Amino acid sequence: MIQVKNLYKVYKVGNSKVYALNGVDFTIYKGEFCAIVGPSGSGKSTLLNMLAGLEKPSKGEIVIGGSHIEKLSENQLVSFRRKHVGFIFQSYNLLQTMNAVENVALPLSFRGVTKKARNEKAKEYIKLVGLEKQMKHMANEMSGGQQQRVGIARALAVDPKIIFADEPTGNLDSKTTREILNLMQKIVREQNQTLVMVTHDNYIAKFADRQFHIVDGKIFKIEEQHHEEQHH
Ligand code: ADP
Ligand code: ADP
Repeated sequence: MIQVKNLYKVYKVGNSKVYALNGVDFTIYKGEFCAIVGPSGSGKSTLLNMLAGLEKPSKGEIVIGGSHIEKLSENQLVSFRRKHVGFIFQSYNLLQTMNAVENVALPLSFRGVTKKARNEKAKEYIKLVGLEKQMKHMANEMSGGQQQRVGIARALAVDPKIIFADEPTGNLDSKTTREILNLMQKIVREQNQTLVMVTHDNYIAKFADRQFHIVDGKIFKIEEQHHEEQHH
């Protein structure tokens, strides 16, 4: 699904150079939940921005679903993100004066989906994330955990090739954090989605199927985690 080869990002700071990414190689497969984990300044955001096509690498290749991201023009990148990428944000980024269904339906309106079809799809995903009772609640009436559930539904609704999550539980308490991470595991498993999460927190990274440990712009270890299937 994602192939990264020999990826470099060099920033010029005054007369010196900062190697934010210093030769990164990995493959992420369809249906995987991967975590990029490392301390502050290790290159996580830079890597995520490259993968999402928000910044250009200095050198190297990024292939997502067959497309070479590093070769796309700005306009092609905008359309690539709209069509194929879902984003989950630390601060949810919901429109506060819209309700849950409207927030989830919004990205679909940019894709020419009719109002009726948008509403149906949005409701379906709102149910999937367990908010059937809060469908008509405004974002600013919901808890952080509920808002992040809406954020997850919104990312899924565009039927993306890949979902990127940047510190998705950074603003949540520990119980809600576990609930959200369990939901992300369930979605990856049941929807055969591919999810790449960035975090500085080793505990949170363990919820992923594979953890890519990054320091000083290099991945020094890839760790696999075996999760028990959850029974109800
Ligand atoms: P993380 O997300 O893990 O905290 P970043 O990817 O933000 O790390 O940063 C990696 C390194 O690249 C750091 O040393 C940071 O200072 C540097 N860096 C990031 N963005 C820029 C930029 N726009 N200009 C100069 N240096 C940058
Ligand atoms: P953060 O809250 O993590 O700082 P931003 O709100 O700055 O994130 O968004 C980062 C980038 O992600 C934006 O510049 C935009 O191009 C892209 N983006 C955000 N939401 C979407 C979306 N729904 N569809 C496509 N691209 C998006």
